[in-house]
Amino acid sequence: MTAPDPRMRWWGWGVDGHDAPLSPGALALLAERIGPLPAGRREPVGLEDVRLPDPALPAAARERLVAAVGAEHVRDDRLARVSHAAGRGYHDLVRLRAGLPASAPDAVVYPGDAEEVAAVLRACAEDDVAVVPFGGGTSVVGGVEPLPGRFPAVVALDLARLDRLLASDPVSLTATVQAGMTGPALEAALGERGLTLGHFPQSFEHATVGGWVATRSAGQASTGYGRIDDLVLALRVVTPSGEIATRAVPASAAGPRLRELLVGSEGTLGVIVEVTLRVRPKPAVRRYEAFSLPRLQAGADAFRALVQSGRAPDVARLSDPLETQVSLELSGGDGLAIRALRGYLRARGHGEGCLVIAGWEDASEAAVRRRRTAAARLLREHCALALGTPVGRAWEHGRFHAPYLRDELLAHGVMVETLETATTWDRLLELHDAVAAALDGALRGRGTPPIVMSHVSHVYRAGASLYFTFVARQEEGAELEQWHAAKATASEAILAAGGTLTHHHAVGRDHAPWLPDEVGELGIELLRAAKATLDPAGVMNPGKLIDPAPLPGAGS
Ligand SMILES: Cc1cc2nc3c(=O)[nH]c(=O)nc-3n(C[C@H](O)[C@H](O)[C@H](O)COP(=O)(O)OP(=O)(O)OC[C@H]3O[C@@H](n4cnc5c(N)ncnc54)[C@H](O)[C@@H]3O)c2cc1C
Repeated sequence: MTAPDPRMRWWGWGVDGHDAPLSPGALALLAERIGPLPAGRREPVGLEDVRLPDPALPAAARERLVAAVGAEHVRDDRLARVSHAAGRGYHDLVRLRAGLPASAPDAVVYPGDAEEVAAVLRACAEDDVAVVPFGGGTSVVGGVEPLPGRFPAVVALDLARLDRLLASDPVSLTATVQAGMTGPALEAALGERGLTLGHFPQSFEHATVGGWVATRSAGQASTGYGRIDDLVLALRVVTPSGEIATRAVPASAAGPRLRELLVGSEGTLGVIVEVTLRVRPKPAVRRYEAFSLPRLQAGADAFRALVQSGRAPDVARLSDPLETQVSLELSGGDGLAIRALRGYLRARGHGEGCLVIAGWEDASEAAVRRRRTAAARLLREHCALALGTPVGRAWEHGRFHAPYLRDELLAHGVMVETLETATTWDRLLELHDAVAAALDGALRGRGTPPIVMSHVSHVYRAGASLYFTFVARQEEGAELEQWHAAKATASEAILAAGGTLTHHHAVGRDHAPWLPDEVGELGIELLRAAKATLDPAGVMNPGKLIDPAPLPGAGS
């Protein structure tokens, strides 16, 4: 087998031929809110026009990589380098579409097993080559940006060949998988055995198990199934200093949990090669349904009551009024039906309403009905209106659609970016308002008034996460500066209002400057000490997590 071709088109989301055109009506509605959009489309440049530095990998280092994985698994052609030059955050896409990636790996290596990963890391540590572990490349925080740090060359270590389910145990409900398996491959393999992991991030189609674990990902049904941190029973990590494999036991008091140090290490300590996951029987019945709550505070109170009384659905999502309004407007649904729905909400005192998507996944109709009835009763006590299953099913149908829409918005000169945070229930609304105001102020101040909308995406007994989407006209020629102004202002507002820098996107490059504010200088020192032990040469993923590098658009 030769090295695989990249899984995604190099300039955007998904594969060629899968597009999500925006209707003229949707574009007009958008322009009404954020101002006139440029005439015509802004298409990405051709692959041959992407500016790439000449490969800087020394011949001797290349030879050692070839010896480690085989010549057919070391690529330095244009497509491979460009496809590993960035993740899939807004600033990545801006630069890729313009053909101006900030950097590119000098080569891409595709090891076939843990021993080959170890050989690659040994070669890189000895030859002074930086290594960026690369799963699906869907990072939205600059996590896979090939920054060489102090090294003359950098390679991407793509895990695409580590793509097998190794074992499953229906008794203990565990499955051991290789780290490069994508979401669909994992669910297909588990599904054949009547199992599921239940981890469905919006990037599910392309992200990998190793990437989820390295970034502490959360999925759309994580309220029910748990985030990936909860689903990892054990893992095997190859580091430049050797291998660590944690024990697959359900609980242990054997000192601090090493697993916790490795989960979320973002490729800075080593390469996750295998993960043992806690899986569940595949649900026989899924029911997604919509409700409206009158205000965000009422919604938060209802969601808190649900989770604290053990009645939370598996998918629990609560949009603020603006997100509710915009998603209905842009849904492409029947205009009459949408107008009727909005009229109904206003007549019942809900204003624009706060849309709730609630989803239950279980073994039988009866089990779903029992849980749904208990939750719906509690929602009604908080003045919820049931909107039925069609809106819920529409959400389910479109749950992986937004990234395709983002490519289309970029083609129309529209900035669209997301960020997420979490805090305790008592501060949730304050955090919501602070971040919304910060983003609005930063972008309005630059003459590009935005739409800033958000939803509660996961709930916990102690609090909840908030997921913001902001949309504005792009400042042509200053897209990165515009992004940076919004990002920096929002990050500061989050920390000031008691939120976490990130609930599930991870730190990567984009949040690294603020990590000391979150974990303290001593916390950073502790993480550095772990890195010095596992990666003494410092070749693993420079410029990320504890090693801040300047952000795109900073300093102008
Ligand atoms: C449109 C879109 C929607 C998204 N939705 C969600 C969402 O709902 N929930 C969510 O949590 N995230 C989401 N993300 C963010 C992203 O998909 C996640 O961070 C995901 O977990 C990354 O997986 P990946 O395989 O693509 O990792 P990559 O992007 O390849 O890598 C991410 C980081 O992990 C490291 N890494 C990857 N694989 C390994 C490995 N095997 N060993 C060590 N380090 C490794 C990389 O070096 C990098 O630092 C979204 C991203 C996009 C673009």
